[in-house]
Amino acid sequence: RQASSEVSLQTEQGGEKGYKGHDMLAPFTAGWQSTDLHPLVIERSEGSYVYDSNGKKYLDALAGLWCTALGGNEPRLVEAATKQLNKLPFYHSFWNRTTRPSLDLAKEILEIFTARKMGKVFFTNSGSEANDSQVKLVWYYFNALGRPNKKKFIARTKSYHGSTLISASLSGLQNLHQKFDLPAPFVLHTDCPHYWRFHLPGETEEEFSTRLANNLENLILKEGPDTIAAFIAEPVMGAGGVILPPKTYFEKVQAVIKKYDILFIADEVITAFGRLGTMFGCDKYHIQPDLVSIAKALSSAYMPIGAILVSPEISEVIHSQSSKLGSFSHGFTYSGHPVACAVALEALKIYKERNIVEKVQAISPRFQNGIKSFSESPIIGEIRGTGLVLGTEFTDNKSPNQPFPSEWGVGAIFGAECEKRGMLVRVAGDSMMMAPPFIISPEEVDELISIYGESLRSTERIIEELKSQ
Ligand code: PMP
Repeated sequence: RQASSEVSLQTEQGGEKGYKGHDMLAPFTAGWQSTDLHPLVIERSEGSYVYDSNGKKYLDALAGLWCTALGGNEPRLVEAATKQLNKLPFYHSFWNRTTRPSLDLAKEILEIFTARKMGKVFFTNSGSEANDSQVKLVWYYFNALGRPNKKKFIARTKSYHGSTLISASLSGLQNLHQKFDLPAPFVLHTDCPHYWRFHLPGETEEEFSTRLANNLENLILKEGPDTIAAFIAEPVMGAGGVILPPKTYFEKVQAVIKKYDILFIADEVITAFGRLGTMFGCDKYHIQPDLVSIAKALSSAYMPIGAILVSPEISEVIHSQSSKLGSFSHGFTYSGHPVACAVALEALKIYKERNIVEKVQAISPRFQNGIKSFSESPIIGEIRGTGLVLGTEFTDNKSPNQPFPSEWGVGAIFGAECEKRGMLVRVAGDSMMMAPPFIISPEEVDELISIYGESLRSTERIIEELKSQ
């Protein structure tokens, strides 16, 4: 049994006995997990905690999947949903028919995003749909401009942009491609900007960024600038292991993109609404995007909703070219679902009222410094993070080039140790990730740090044993 895969090695304690071998084809789950193990059934949530069906309490150090920003039981979101469900549970947004919550939410999103002025908002149900829609929108835009050759997208190795055909193609993770006949041929991947892992001996962060920008430019020139439509990037890479851009990276990459008239898509599905201690990742890294994808914290995950922000230039072309190209024939039954929009509107209101960005800024040093105090552990290569997102990479001798044998599943062992002690984290290979809710209290941060520390010591002992065998 492979402990080393992308999945958490789940402990048996929390399992729900009646559902072993259950009927769900579970996302991102190995077959043996759902047949041989009892699923961990989460039954209720409260603040930063979730409870399983046996009543065991867990600190939700990943806020669900980087998304329940306001924690597990925000009554105002429940009230907003209930009110809207009673008034108008559904109407669509096709053919210029729509609902008030979707109109109000579009307006609010445009007001909140200030890294540059954006023009319009398109609603989706998820981050994957947002990134898929980006590709269609970009193609529509260049077709409208009479530049049909601009078709290719450049994404980065280790990025995560979703799991539909196109968003998985954009993603730079092998497990999303292998056995799925992906990536699609119009997607190219350039370097992952992970300084610790990929810098050359003696190379500074700035030099590393210069080299990556040069590689990007060479790729563009090799493919032909007229064929490249857009570049897509997460301000901080999430599922790839929480990878922060090295100094001057986005500055240099943006210069290259601009030079060849390539659009910049910022995938802010994880980073939007305060996660990095700024309202958007674009604010933190001075990114001036043409398009932005958001989801997750948009509704604090209480309802499924995503969106794209479209620059005035692009939305203007789409509008003005409609006589030539016909309607923008793209959309989903649930684009701008009124209940999801009502909940998102309330979430944005709460972020504002509670100064959520300042709150994240205030709590993040306690979180970051607390976890980074374990950096000296012999099994940790790097701890990296900012705001309320953090990744740890386990490696032998603190070297990026000495991974532990993958069959040991060191990341999975650590994840299971956390789970045993009542904390849920995300594991991928030998890295683990945390992104707690924005409402996490100082005491809860201390608890998180203490469980991390105990789980680390225990993992160190297990590795010593494995080494001596
Ligand atoms: N983009 C990023 C940066 C993400 O982290 C995710 C989800 N983790 C997605 C896109 C896809 O979002 P969804 O799962 O809602 O489709």
